[in-house]
Amino acid sequence: MSARLLEGKHLAAALRKGVKAEVEDLGRLGIVPTLSMIRVGQDDASVIYMNAKAKASEEVGIRSTITELPADSSEERVRSLLEDIGRDDSIHGVIVQLPLPAHLDPLKILSLMNPEKDVDGFHPINVGRLSMGEPLFVPATPLGIKELLDRSDVRVEGAHVVILGRSNIVGRPLANYLSIKRPGLNATVTVCHSSSTNLEKITRSGDILVSAVGRAEFVSSSMVSSGAVVVDVGMNRIVDSYSPTGKRLVGDVRFDEVKEVASAITPVPGGVGPMTVVMLLMNTVRACRMQTRS
Ligand code: NAP
Repeated sequence: MSARLLEGKHLAAALRKGVKAEVEDLGRLGIVPTLSMIRVGQDDASVIYMNAKAKASEEVGIRSTITELPADSSEERVRSLLEDIGRDDSIHGVIVQLPLPAHLDPLKILSLMNPEKDVDGFHPINVGRLSMGEPLFVPATPLGIKELLDRSDVRVEGAHVVILGRSNIVGRPLANYLSIKRPGLNATVTVCHSSSTNLEKITRSGDILVSAVGRAEFVSSSMVSSGAVVVDVGMNRIVDSYSPTGKRLVGDVRFDEVKEVASAITPVPGGVGPMTVVMLLMNTVRACRMQTRS
């Protein structure tokens, strides 16, 4: 058996066209959706991710700004910036890039955002709303996974979804989202982590297996039941002497062997990653519409 490929790349391109058209409609009303991104320090991966978000925003007509604060910025400095953004009617979305330098408490900093502009869905109010089944903004990666499954005719409702990883940006919000009591969601969810025992037994019980561990080659074919759908969130850079950069991006899943067992599988790159970016754009346009009542 060779699994169907769930290509987020193509779906994301189509969705981006829709976002662009929506932004043009808003433009005719004199409204420009605007996203403000804040980075504290110069973490290499954060610089790349933020630039990618800025480029994707620009391509659909969303105005975006990146504010770079020095790595030793005080909590007071970040607070004052977030308060200014919270009050500024011309800014509809805000992102604080994680991770923050060690002296800044992420919970405290994320709490300083205006929850109505929190397009990442990381403010404690938005985390709480999602866990209560009444989300305002669902984080982009879980939202992108759900959209990819829906558009690929993979039914989540009633399915057993096993998630590897319990981070606040992928595993936990995905579990909270998919288990909401609502048509189209209503999944039975199991969340695994580094202290889980009998991992293989659990993962094999999943109709849908999502891996967000961050370890190359982690998911082998013996962990996947025949006909399961496999979603690979992992983004791991491994050494590859054949690549011009000396590195290559791979997921968590041993793609070549798992595709022979699964019924459908997302590739890396070109699977969940592009869906995450377009969901962020969609959340920004939604925030703009809510704030401008348009
Ligand atoms: P994270 O915060 O490091 O969390 C990793 C999770 O995996 C933790 O819950 C950890 O368990 C669990 N884990 C580690 N070793 C394990 C093991 N042996 N067995 C079972 N679980 C284990 O990572 P993250 O931020 O969620 O990201 C995960 C991966 O997804 C990374 O590669 C990241 O780059 C990628 N990612 C991709 C996208 C995208 O758009 N494609 C978006 C976000 C993240 P503990 O909690 O017990 O430590």
